[in-house]
Parts: sequence; structure tokens; C-alpha cells
Amino acid sequence: MEENTADVVIVGGGPVGTGLAIELGQRGIRTVLVERYPTPQQVPKGQNLTQRSVEHFHAWGIEKELRAARTVPKEYGIGGLTAYGTLTGDYHYDWLQRELVRPYYFTDNERLPQYRTEEVLRERVKTLPSVEVLYGWTGEDVQQDEDGVTVTLACRDGVGERRLRSAYAVGCDGSRSVIREKAGITQTQSDHDRLMVLLVFRSTGLHELLKRFPGKSFYNVLHPDLKGYWQFFGRVDLGNTWFFHAPVPPGTTRDNFDFSGYLHRAVGAEFDIEFEHVGFWDLRIATADSYRKGRIFIAGDAAHSHPPYGGYGINTGFEDARNLGWKLAARLQGWGGDSLLDSYDEERRPVFVSTARDFIEKSIESDRAFLENFDPARDRVAFEAEWKARGSGARAEVNAFSPNYRGSPIVCGKKGDSVSAVGTHEYRAVAGCHLAPQLQSDGRNIFECLSSGFTLVAYDGDDVVLKEFAAAAEQMGVPLDIALDDGGKAQDNYEARYILVRPDHFITWASEEPPLSARRILAQATGSSQ
Ligand SMILES: Cc1cc2nc3c(=O)[nH]c(=O)nc-3n(C[C@H](O)[C@H](O)[C@H](O)COP(=O)(O)OP(=O)(O)OC[C@H]3O[C@@H](n4cnc5c(N)ncnc54)[C@H](O)[C@@H]3O)c2cc1C
Repeated sequence: MEENTADVVIVGGGPVGTGLAIELGQRGIRTVLVERYPTPQQVPKGQNLTQRSVEHFHAWGIEKELRAARTVPKEYGIGGLTAYGTLTGDYHYDWLQRELVRPYYFTDNERLPQYRTEEVLRERVKTLPSVEVLYGWTGEDVQQDEDGVTVTLACRDGVGERRLRSAYAVGCDGSRSVIREKAGITQTQSDHDRLMVLLVFRSTGLHELLKRFPGKSFYNVLHPDLKGYWQFFGRVDLGNTWFFHAPVPPGTTRDNFDFSGYLHRAVGAEFDIEFEHVGFWDLRIATADSYRKGRIFIAGDAAHSHPPYGGYGINTGFEDARNLGWKLAARLQGWGGDSLLDSYDEERRPVFVSTARDFIEKSIESDRAFLENFDPARDRVAFEAEWKARGSGARAEVNAFSPNYRGSPIVCGKKGDSVSAVGTHEYRAVAGCHLAPQLQSDGRNIFECLSSGFTLVAYDGDDVVLKEFAAAAEQMGVPLDIALDDGGKAQDNYEARYILVRPDHFITWASEEPPLSARRILAQATGSSQ
């Protein structure tokens, strides 16, 4: 029998599905979250959380809890390092220094195993009365008609089936998504034809060896034999547990390969190893050809999957959740148009395509070209000059990764712009970009003045303009708060007197001048007809 359960059914309660459930639950949307496993899987992936991801945790009320769940003490640092040849060899530089872009976000970045992050999310979702969580159930099918969707679930212990009826369904069920497949959403894949191994192991000897790199938690070893594919080490805790991923020959199994020898060669020294986990995956990049099919959406790894190069996976997935959550809520609460839901695909898919092309694939290609063209045994001087240049290039990469929705149909920006993961970090308020933090004249950070709906930030704003916005929002039912301030340094840095900030803290519209029509701006921002 069909149960008329919810507004939104989410299949997959990993980090992205649970994040989306929190986003919806905080907005009072009746949500059912379906997850097959009663506890998070103990694989230490998805460790690197950007400053932006921690902003989501702040918005979900669990930043403090996230930081408390960290497994490497804060004093130790969470930096990265790239080495050449072996990890303990002569050449290395700092890598992925996210602290370089810290001033442009409200919160610090963080690093912890994904299962700890998931535990924090699971605790939070329990507290939201409008969210029901069904652990131990597997989504098997999804069907849609004009009025809604039906999601069929099977109990994992083999006894029982349920059919949930809702207005929308979202597949957050990982890279092998059943929901994506049942919805008929195809994927485009770029296959690198590489088998990768993921090892989790204990070693105090490796901790001793790497004391030479204080404050580092992840290490990437480039080796000419591997043609740009990485040998990647990461701390799971301080002093004991590690993970490692790297290419292995086709046909490698748990039993036919010397993993200890591989680790020793990558480090360039012998050390104790006690394996906890050996797993394999194929290195490929897959992007769904659409993130929406009618009433069915996909998010996180269900929509995009790729090798963990640069730590983009979980961060991109959280941003999907934050983007989709307010839009579904707006539609269900009657203040968002249907094209607002289309904008989820129009904003998030090009960001991933750009992330894959301009950062992930590019890093493999550029490492490959470097390893082919430079070798300290052949020409030490040329190698060292290029190695130094790469060290500064690693800084530029962190700055350039700034996903933005310039050119999105729901952003009132410049014509001809396009949505991309490539951008810059700056204080200037630019339509389509993430709002940078600034101190207001009362000493609060602007992020402490933003509401869960839209916020119009106005520096010494004209009364007529403010009234026009307030009246238009009221007529259209759009939740809008106005954050008034005297201006000064913040206004100078933003280079704007008026900034309309979306519920996900991206900028819809920014201007020094009053708008021609506040109503038109709000209509565009919410995908509504005027
Ligand atoms: C070795 C490794 C290291 C990584 N390191 C990083 C990193 O440093 N930074 C980073 O950003 N990303 C990293 N990633 C990627 C990151 O782990 C993923 O992007 C992230 O897990 C995606 O989250 P998700 O919720 O979309 O999918 P998943 O984590 O796959 O979660 C999907 C959930 O859905 C459930 N599920 C699946 N099918 C069903 C079904 N039919 N019914 C009910 N439940 C279902 C699963 O049990 C699971 O809980 C790494 C990945 C690997 C493999």
C-alpha cells in the first residue's frame, strides 16, 4: 500500500543525503530520509572539508560538533605536501594551502574522516521534527506522475516493503545510484582505465618518519612511472592510522600483490604496517547528463563521481545539498517557480563539469607532462626551476577554485557570463558569486546578520528602495530580511550599496545604484513570473 508520507523522500543517507535532510528539515519541509546502513561505513574517505563546507555546518547549527569530532589535534595542523620520487626524498612543496583563501569565508576549513562527519550529521538530523529517518531500508525503485513520486523500499533484512508517496524524490545514493538509473538519467564518463587501491593501515613507524613535516596531514608522491596518477597518503588520526590510494596493475587482488613493498617504495623507507582495509575502485570521472528528471533529482556522488584528487567530492556534494534544499523548500512553500528547480541543474552541473575539467583532469595532465619533461637525473637545474614554479602554481590553484553561478538564469548579473568552478577570491560583491565576510559597523560579521531566506544588505540604503523590496517580497511571499548598516569599510570592500543574498549565501544582485524594479529582481531570483 502507498503511504502518503512526505514532501520530499531522499534515498541515501550518506553525507549529502543527510545534509540535504537537515537543510529541508530546518525549513520545516516534511522529509523522509532512507538509508540502508544503520551506522556510517568506517572507510576514512572524504576528509578534506573546505571553508565553504564548514559554512554549511555553521548554517546547520553543528560547526562546533564537527570540530569536536576531529581526530587529529587542532594544534597539529591539516596541511598538504607534494613530493617527488619518494615521500622522504629531496623534493617537496606545500600543497592545497586552503588557508590562503581563509579571509573570503566565514569559517575555517576542517579535516576528519567522513564517518565522523556523518555521525555529526546523523545526530543533528535526529533533532529535526519534520524529518523521519528510516535506517535499514533500501530504495529499489522510483516512479513519477503529474502529481508526485512513488519510492519503493525493501527492508535490508529481507522482510518487508514500503511504498512512499511524496511530491519530490532525491537520489543521494552514491555513484552507483539506483534512483539515477530508475529515473532514466544517463551519465557521461571519462574512463582512465586505471585500477586504484585504497589501503587503510596502522603504522607508528610512518608517523616517526614523517615528523620531518610537522603540521602536514596529507601527502602526494609524484613518480615518473605512474604518468601523473598519484600515490596519496593521509593521516586518519595522529600517530597511528593512515590511508593510501594509488594505481595498481590490472587484475590486482588482495592476495596477489605486495602492498607493503608498494608502500615502502612510495615512502622511500621501511616501516611497520598492519592493514585494516584493502579495497579497489576504477579511476573514472562520471557526470550525470541531467541532475533533474521531472520530480526526481540527484545530488552528490549520484550526480558526479571522480577520483579523490584535490578533495572535491564531498565538498561539491554538500554544495549540491545547500543549493537544492532552499529551492525545493521555495517551491513547496509556494514562493518559488518551477524554473527555480531547473536552476539546480543549470547551476550545479556546469560547476562540476568545470571542476572535473579545470582542476581534476588538469592536475593529472599537468603532473604527467611535468614527469615526462623534467627529471633531476637528466637535468637537475631545469628540474629544480620547474619544481619551484610548481610550488607557486599550487597556490594559484587554491585561489582559482571558486565555484560561481555567474550567468545563471536566476542571477541578475552581466550578460555573457557562464557558470563555472573557476573564479577568483575577492571581497567585491559580484552577482553569482559567494558572499565574502565583512565586519559591519556594529562589530558583527555580515554572516551573523543573514537570514535563512533572502537578505537585502543595504549600506545607508535609500528608504524608498527598502520599502519597495519589502513590499514586493510581501506580495510574492518571498522571505526577505533587510540588514541595514552605515556603510564604511564593508561597503567600500563590497563596492556595492545594495546586495541581495540568497538563502545559500550566494549573491543574486549587487549594485551601488537603486534597482529599476525590486519586484523584477525578486521574480528572477525565485524563478517566478512577475
Ligand atoms: C579514498 C577516497 C578518499 C576521498 N577523499 C575525499 C576528500 O578528501 N574530500 C572530498 O571532498 N571527497 C573525498 N572523497 C569523495 C567522497 O567520499 C564522496 O564524494 C562522498 O562520499 C559523496 O557523498 P554522497 O553522500 O554523495 O555519497 P556516498 O558517500 O556514497 O553515500 C551514499 C549513501 O547512500 C546509501 N545508499 C546507496 N544506495 C542506496 C539505496 N538504494 N537505498 C538506500 N541507501 C542507499 C549508502 O549506504 C550511503 O550511505 C574520497 C573518496 C574516496 C573513495
